[in-house]
Amino acid sequence: MNYRVNPKNNDKLSALGFGCMRFARDEKEAEKQIIYAIEQGVNYFDTAYLYPGSEAALGRVLKKGYRYRVKIATKMPPHTIKKYEDFDRIFNTELERLQTDHIDYYLIHMLPDITTWNRLLKIGVDKWIKDKKQKGQIINIGFSYHGGRDEFITLVDAYDWEFCLLQYNYLDENNQAGVSGIQYAAAKGLPVMVMEPLRGGKLVTNLPKEVYDIWDKAYVKRSPAEWAFRWLWNQPEVTVVLSGMNSMEMIKENIRVASDTEVGAFTDADFELFKKVRQILSEKIKIPCTGCNYCMPCPKGVDIPTCFSCYNDREIEGRFMAVAKYVMQTSIKNQTHNASLCVKCGKCESHCPQHIKIREELTQVTKSMEGIYYKPLRFFIKRFMKLEG
Ligand code: SF4
Ligand code: SF4
Repeated sequence: MNYRVNPKNNDKLSALGFGCMRFARDEKEAEKQIIYAIEQGVNYFDTAYLYPGSEAALGRVLKKGYRYRVKIATKMPPHTIKKYEDFDRIFNTELERLQTDHIDYYLIHMLPDITTWNRLLKIGVDKWIKDKKQKGQIINIGFSYHGGRDEFITLVDAYDWEFCLLQYNYLDENNQAGVSGIQYAAAKGLPVMVMEPLRGGKLVTNLPKEVYDIWDKAYVKRSPAEWAFRWLWNQPEVTVVLSGMNSMEMIKENIRVASDTEVGAFTDADFELFKKVRQILSEKIKIPCTGCNYCMPCPKGVDIPTCFSCYNDREIEGRFMAVAKYVMQTSIKNQTHNASLCVKCGKCESHCPQHIKIREELTQVTKSMEGIYYKPLRFFIKRFMKLEG
């Protein structure tokens, strides 16, 4: 495993971090995977109060003698904080779930803007952080972020942060905080942890044929995921890259790549490959949804990320395949969850880190994917699969 040094405190952090949002379903299997990753040198585990069951599952494994070998990162959801006591209520629950007495890297989860930070300040977040740090219960304080560059810089400057967590990948080089935001944070001495390195899998599966052709004809054979990871680890500003890993095959492959990358290893030829791939993908992906699920659940049952994913696939895989997938995927549960169920209440939009105009886009999805064939096909599928709704 390659390690990168946290410039703030000299922690040696594994270049690959274990994203704990979705562990393997079987807890025994998840445990095996976590222990394997630790034995291979992964020492940064990122979870959150809001990831269902994740903190508790991680805590149960680390309790078996692994806690001292890893750094735990977990997160406080700011929208749950209404009064000072809420900080401790959430934090103590997290300590209990994780079966630990301190959090190494604690984040304000998805801090959207300075207004939210100022609201937390009014409730006393700075006093609370100081108290937790004095007691040794929080070692490093940071925030995760999904918005644009300017707001990110405002937030970086608003407090004496010790790290940050950002969405970053080769397709988002100039989206969100982007490369300039990352360089800004790094110049201020902040370690930068990266999430969504594969953009919710969009940089790996169902890519346009032209993109696979570029990777296939490259001077060295590497999978699309390996290229995407190498692009990140080539950059000195990137400290830890999180990968949501839930299969042993994926863990082994990511560890192999993370153990074989160096800052500044890319040549002009490598950058040229990325330029071509980026150009093709930007033309094809119509809605920049990463599938993060923050907009869910919709009160009307619309499966927003699935609707967007199928719509984007229309551009990449062709209309027939994409519509077939849309009909299947919006029909194979007891409750249907297609785009036209949207009543435009707007509840989802404020949660979207990509700032997608969800209501407008769902209207487009409805027009494009729900022709006169949709209802009869759905009826047939439900009858065939003996589903209600
Ligand atoms: S705007 Fe539509 S998709 Fe969003 S929460 Fe409301 S009904 Fe659901
Ligand atoms: S629409 Fe936005 S919040 Fe919902 S899954 Fe996509 S990126 Fe995430």
